[in-house]
Amino acid sequence: MSKPIVAIVGRPNVGKSTLFNMIAGERIAIVKDTPGVTRDRIYAEVSWLNHNFTLMDTGGIEPETSNQMLRSMREQAEMAIEMADVVMFVVDVQQGVLDADYKVADMLRKAHKDIVLVVNKVDNYDKMLPDVYEFYNLGIGDPHPISSLNKMGLGDMLDEVTALFPKDLEEEEDERPRIAIVGKPNVGKSSLINKLLGENRVIVSDVAGTTRDAIDTDICWEGKDYVFIDTAGLRRKNKIKEEIERYSILRTVSAVERADVVVLMIDAEEGITEQDAKIAGIAHDRGRGMIIAVNKWDAIEKDNHSVKKFTNEIRNTLSFMPYAEILFISAKTGQRIPKLFDALETVIQNHSMRIATGVVNEILMEAVAMQQPPSDKGRRLKIYYMTQVSVKPPTFVVFVNDKRLMHFSYTRYLENKIREAFGFAGTPLRFLIRERSKK
Ligand code: GDP
Ligand code: GDP
Repeated sequence: MSKPIVAIVGRPNVGKSTLFNMIAGERIAIVKDTPGVTRDRIYAEVSWLNHNFTLMDTGGIEPETSNQMLRSMREQAEMAIEMADVVMFVVDVQQGVLDADYKVADMLRKAHKDIVLVVNKVDNYDKMLPDVYEFYNLGIGDPHPISSLNKMGLGDMLDEVTALFPKDLEEEEDERPRIAIVGKPNVGKSSLINKLLGENRVIVSDVAGTTRDAIDTDICWEGKDYVFIDTAGLRRKNKIKEEIERYSILRTVSAVERADVVVLMIDAEEGITEQDAKIAGIAHDRGRGMIIAVNKWDAIEKDNHSVKKFTNEIRNTLSFMPYAEILFISAKTGQRIPKLFDALETVIQNHSMRIATGVVNEILMEAVAMQQPPSDKGRRLKIYYMTQVSVKPPTFVVFVNDKRLMHFSYTRYLENKIREAFGFAGTPLRFLIRERSKK
């Protein structure tokens, strides 16, 4: 199920980051939990009532500027707008309607996106309301007064935003597995897609994602249909390295959001890097199936230890996802591309595998017998039972007497036992701990 994307745009200093943090709130902290991953605070997973969406912050739009930094911020905002389902256009009541706001409004109108006009810094509702009406002049719809600082008006505004979500997005899509090809610029993403298209010559269609940044390609392999989501499609000229990185991260988020399985390409010539880990973290947080494809395997000098050495490096750097499948490929020569599809099949199956409750509990009982659950101050953790509640990724609820006694390390132990018994290669597993009184 893919989630809608909401982008926050506006001039610098209107309060976008403040608003972002306010909405994202504690969610950010959860995202940060992924070990080994440093987070860029440019996107967050948000729930509002029964809606889940991805919130994207943008640097800010300063129309018509010659300053390189501001220009690149604008490009980034344009990209976020392209990817977004709904745009929150933030303006500042204390500064009033500025020329730059009109320019941003023009830009948004041209993008034909659903827009919610957010008038921020309305710290005193009664006094400032007349100023809010000024923003009707932007011709972009009703202004929604809020104060990010005082957390006022946020609820009504978010109701407005979520009401605009496309209905089909929040429902289950077609049956074909969706595969996101992600990785740093120049790692070989386009080459891989081209190879896949060239090799099997069964191009069904080549549809540009209508509103999204990523390009969807339908590929049929041995009679099975897949949708590949390619993040390489759109490329912008940009000189600032940090900004290039932000682009590729935003693009990755939007592709991963729509995928079941993620193929993270790593450059064999460079080895695994910090940016690769960041990208991997995005897939991990969203619970996607995971394949790591070390590309350009043709281009490096190899000996008997190369595979082992690379594997170790990847396992160390991506220690938070020991479940990831690792492959060594060449998009150029086509080496081991059939293996890539074998791995995809495995991961797709495991990602939606269901285990019957009876079988899960046999494993649980065995595990508990082999290693006693932890205790604290004389009180011991009791695990009553466990059941799988959902797939993509497989998610288990564990019923216990006292949540606080459930150590991270014991959850990890149970996960290992489940994996030993059922495999689940290539997919993360989720464990939700619930308390239940003994009956
Ligand atoms: P951005 O550049 O659009 O991301 O703006 P920031 O979030 O960095 O905010 C710019 C300034 O506006 C900061 O000093 C904030 O504290 C302030 N600010 C943000 N929201 C509000 C608000 O609702 N009321 C008031 N009075 N100030 C705010
Ligand atoms: P993208 O930015 O990730 O889409 O990367 P591209 O597909 O544009 O590839 C970047 C460069 O790496 C191009 O010059 C490709 O020819 C080269 N390249 C891609 N895959 C391979 C590979 O498997 N082996 C070698 N030797 N070069 C590759």
